[in-house]
Amino acid sequence: MDNKKKTIWETADPSALEAFCADYRNFLSACKTERECVAAMTAELKEAGAKSLAEVIAEGGSLQAGDVVYADMMKKSLVVYRIGTRPLTDGFRFLGAHIDSPRMDLKQNPLYEDTDLALLETHYYGGIKKYQWVAVPLALHGVVVKKDGTAVDVCIGEKPEDPVFGVSDLLIHLSGKQMEKNAATVIEGENLNVLVGSKPLSGEEKQAVKANVLALLKEQYGIEEADFISAEIEVVPAGPAREYGFDRSMIMGYGQDDRVCAYPSFRALMDVKDPEYTSVCLLTDKEEIGSVGATGMHSRFFENSLAEVMNILGCYSELELRRVLTRSKVLSSDVSAAFDPNYPEVMEKNNCAYLGRGPVFNKYTGSRGKSGSNDANAEYIGFLRGLMDRDSITFQTSELGKVDAGGGGTIAYILANLGLEVIDFGVAVLNMHAPYEITSKADVYETYRAYKTFLK
Ligand code: MN
Ligand code: MN
Repeated sequence: MDNKKKTIWETADPSALEAFCADYRNFLSACKTERECVAAMTAELKEAGAKSLAEVIAEGGSLQAGDVVYADMMKKSLVVYRIGTRPLTDGFRFLGAHIDSPRMDLKQNPLYEDTDLALLETHYYGGIKKYQWVAVPLALHGVVVKKDGTAVDVCIGEKPEDPVFGVSDLLIHLSGKQMEKNAATVIEGENLNVLVGSKPLSGEEKQAVKANVLALLKEQYGIEEADFISAEIEVVPAGPAREYGFDRSMIMGYGQDDRVCAYPSFRALMDVKDPEYTSVCLLTDKEEIGSVGATGMHSRFFENSLAEVMNILGCYSELELRRVLTRSKVLSSDVSAAFDPNYPEVMEKNNCAYLGRGPVFNKYTGSRGKSGSNDANAEYIGFLRGLMDRDSITFQTSELGKVDAGGGGTIAYILANLGLEVIDFGVAVLNMHAPYEITSKADVYETYRAYKTFLK
């Protein structure tokens, strides 16, 4: 009791920790959009022999304890169920994370030429410090859907032999006026134009550089300029996730908010094979812009999927569905701000998260007087503390910064509206929403362990 509490680095199995984090890094490098996350996880589900809800329904099939069934919403959000040994009517255990991340999206009419340079217009998505997104290598990820319905997947800038793209910034020599602006306007949103070409198409007189880019798109992807109208192309930082620090104790990569919680959530559901309560893992889209739309947490996607699963299990009625929700427990798996020694002034040291001290409970988020927050129940937190202690999980508790320093939200309050117990519980991140975010391997691994404990 008097001994110093051991760190996760001392309690964790080092080879299991490193193996999990290597898998996570590969996932981060390969999956930089919500669509790529859904595709990769669906492939893994199929390989594990899981069926989609649509397949089970079409076959008039049934579901037994241990079975895994999944459904996606417009290829951008994914829900996975593993049936428990108890009846579903006793409630379920739910891990909910988001797989969209801040970025720049191409506009619908993006390509233009200016002074012999070809550029793409973008509209940023989510909360970004725009000045962080200039003068860094960028990649294009997404899909172009043609009039006939065929879809062309695009991913340029990730292979070592691929070209990369970027947004230019003003040279320091001529930045006198720019440097006087405040940080919110030093780079204007309308100036986030991505440079994609400078070589004219030979024989072309007008807009020859743009014509050359279009010729290359036609040749390599079969895409016409008008096809951008029905495209979703995301401009994201190029290159793989990396180990970070002399001691390789951290991970640097794009989109760790919230893939650093989405990946362990998914893996926990896949690895806890015989849960008592039915396990649910929901990986949702649009969290960064308010959880809106058919693929966001505000949609009925999850409730509809639950109705279908209950129907297959023979226990569906609208009333029973409402009851199941109120008997269920949720971890809103989202990231927390890690204490940054460069910016101690925004944190209150007794109630903030630190890298390496394990997954973080945020009883509430919100801003000002907890406005917009889900405020988790003491009873639920007591239950979770008992659960975590049972498996010796190292965890911490936090608020998002000092009182009145700012704020933020997650999907927790939306799930709480359904009448179930919910609290935010995820990994602490440095540089949140920057092109490259930093996490601790110890936290990533301990969070995976914690999610498994929750589902068991
Ligand atoms: Mn998040
Ligand atoms: Mn975020």
